[in-house]
Amino acid sequence: MNLHEYQGKEILNSFGVQIQRGIVATTPDEAVEAAKKLTEETGTGWHVIKAQVHAGGRGKGGGVKLAKNIKEVADISEEIIGMNLVTPQTSAEGKKVHQVLVAEDVYYPGDNEPEEYYMSVLLNRSNGRNMIMYSTEGGMDIETVAEETPHLIFTEEIDPATGLLPFQARRVAFNLGLSGQAFKQMTKFVQALYTAYEKSDSSLFEINPILKTSDDKIIAVDAKVTLDDNALFRHKDYAALRDVREENPVEVEAKEVGLNYVDLDGNVGCMVNGAGLAMATMDLIKQAGGEPANFLDVGGTADAERVEAAFNLILKDPNVKAILVNIFGGIVRCDRVAQGIVDAYKNMKNIDVPIIVRLQGTNADIAKELIDNSGLDVQSAVEFQEAADKVQKVLS
Ligand code: GDP
Ligand code: MN
Repeated sequence: MNLHEYQGKEILNSFGVQIQRGIVATTPDEAVEAAKKLTEETGTGWHVIKAQVHAGGRGKGGGVKLAKNIKEVADISEEIIGMNLVTPQTSAEGKKVHQVLVAEDVYYPGDNEPEEYYMSVLLNRSNGRNMIMYSTEGGMDIETVAEETPHLIFTEEIDPATGLLPFQARRVAFNLGLSGQAFKQMTKFVQALYTAYEKSDSSLFEINPILKTSDDKIIAVDAKVTLDDNALFRHKDYAALRDVREENPVEVEAKEVGLNYVDLDGNVGCMVNGAGLAMATMDLIKQAGGEPANFLDVGGTADAERVEAAFNLILKDPNVKAILVNIFGGIVRCDRVAQGIVDAYKNMKNIDVPIIVRLQGTNADIAKELIDNSGLDVQSAVEFQEAADKVQKVLS
């Protein structure tokens, strides 16, 4: 589960990670209130107004702006709240901004120039260890840094038996070229950040940039936090941070009815039981010249109600030109699934795309008869390839 920047920062801060302080606002009036409050608390004169959407590169899209007085806070918030923010990480339509983070300006002038660094904490799946990835090249796209100057990216792997050791945190600060107060602050920052990562059961932290302020403080200016869904049961307070407005509405609906659905760009809707078979079905559709419109695993109990719910989801996608149902009847008998399909079809009345059904396994022959005799625009198929060919035929 992804979080907004302001939510991620709150979690970081709860584990002692120093952050750029801010207050979230949903209207320009609230933004002005927030700015006044921040000035009282932090003494900041300038503020940054930051669009809160689940996408990076907001700065490039005009979603992060500096306000030098209260009037600018109001004007910039007015402009950003409600806009469709397009960044290198969103689709061409962009993402609607519902709220902004009003934050203290931390790039104030002083003895030294402010410096930006990059840091992420994530799981290295090849050896099952957490690692800290960091770079002197903060504020930039890390993919670009990896491509053009890979020697400027460092990693620190953590042994799960010992956790992050103090010398490792010092090595990070050293490799970032820090000394004195900034070195000490960075060591603390890295330790707090790693503790936060472990204790919050996150699967990704990306802090880009971390800032060394002109007076040598080390703070997180941005925070991308991804929580591990499998651990949300022990973080009820984090689970409540979900913002469904940021998620694909059809996928949200699927989750509510317990279906495993992922929206894709193609034109052939698929309804399959079992993730492996679903993947194989998508491959087959591609081989036959089509493109899958979705991944959908209906799971073990494909009764009429579930099949209807699945059809409903698939038909929400206007690109769907045909539906391929590919079910292996093991525990669930094929004739029950076939009946489910026929019942759902009759119930729905609005299915205007051809359906090809392949049922294999227990009672497959009875199922085929049920489909063939239903009098509906549903074609049956026995072999995998036959099903794909029939899909191909209705598309051309
Ligand atoms: P992103 O574009 O979505 O990654 O959003 P960030 O939170 O990383 O902000 C983008 C950029 O805005 C940063 O790299 C900074 O250059 C700039 N920025 C962020 N906070 C401040 C601030 O307090 N003052 C100033 N002057 N610039 C800031
Ligand atoms: Mn950033």
